This record gives sequence, C-alpha cells and structure tokens, in this order.
Amino acid sequence: MVSPPNKNPTNTLDKISVHLEHACFICGIILSGSKTCIEHVKNIHRYVIPFRPPGRRPENAKFSYTSYPDDDPWTIEEYACPSCWYHSPSDDLEALNEHIREEHNPTRVKKEEYEEEYEEDDVEMEESEFVQEITTKLDELKALFEEILS
Ligand SMILES: [Zn+2]
Ligand SMILES: [Zn+2]
Repeated sequence: MVSPPNKNPTNTLDKISVHLEHACFICGIILSGSKTCIEHVKNIHRYVIPFRPPGRRPENAKFSYTSYPDDDPWTIEEYACPSCWYHSPSDDLEALNEHIREEHNPTRVKKEEYEEEYEEDDVEMEESEFVQEITTKLDELKALFEEILS
C-alpha cells in the first residue's frame, strides 16, 4: 500500500485517514454496513459469516477512520471486513476474500434453512387464520355484551 505524504509533519499522531466501504467479498457490491453485508452474503450467495463483536472499532496506531472522506483530501478508501475490524485496500477484493475465507470460515447455508424460508408463507397464513379466528370470537363477545347491556 502506498502511504499518502504527511499532511501535517508536526503532528506526531500522523495517521492515515481511512474511509471504509463494506464490499461483498464475493461479488464486490458495496453495502451500507457490516450487517447489511452479512445479510447480503447469506441471502444472495448462501454463505454464513459471523457478526462483528459488539462495540466501536478499536483505536489503531496507523489509521484514523472517517465517515466523511471529502473533508480530508488524503483519505483513502478501504474495504472493511464485516466480521472483524480488518480492512483491505479497496482495489484488492481478493485480499478481503482471502481474509474472510481464512479467518471466518464461511459456511454454506444449511438445507433446512432453505426449506424454512419456503415454509414461511404457510406460517404467515396460519397466523392470519388464527387472527381471524380471534376476531370472530371478539365479534361474538361484542354481540353478547350488546345483548346483555341493551
Ligand atoms: Zn455479493
Ligand atoms: Zn475479518
């Protein structure tokens, strides 16, 4: 990686300003965040990778992270791993891919999970039937009360 020139030589904390993008390690599409990225990998490519540990990205001696790349002309773009705090140069999707395969051991979505998805419609139908049943019962009760109170 080529380091940008010192933007402020008197600053001893001269870190490289990094803007992170969440690219899918398989197809390279840019997602809005680590969770969206993990969902995308699961739904589109049928691979499961772990979520990041909760909390903020730890301080790094070499990099400072920014959400506003336009504020600093020296900001570089990198691809963030959605499962940990690792990031790779944004022109090197293969590095991200290799990192995820080696460190996070992507596993295929299990067959049962496929089937569960297909059954979801049935479950929803059962639920709405159940709701309908309750609504009918409530209507009956209402009619009963109206009879008693009239
Ligand atoms: Zn993808
Ligand atoms: Zn990682």
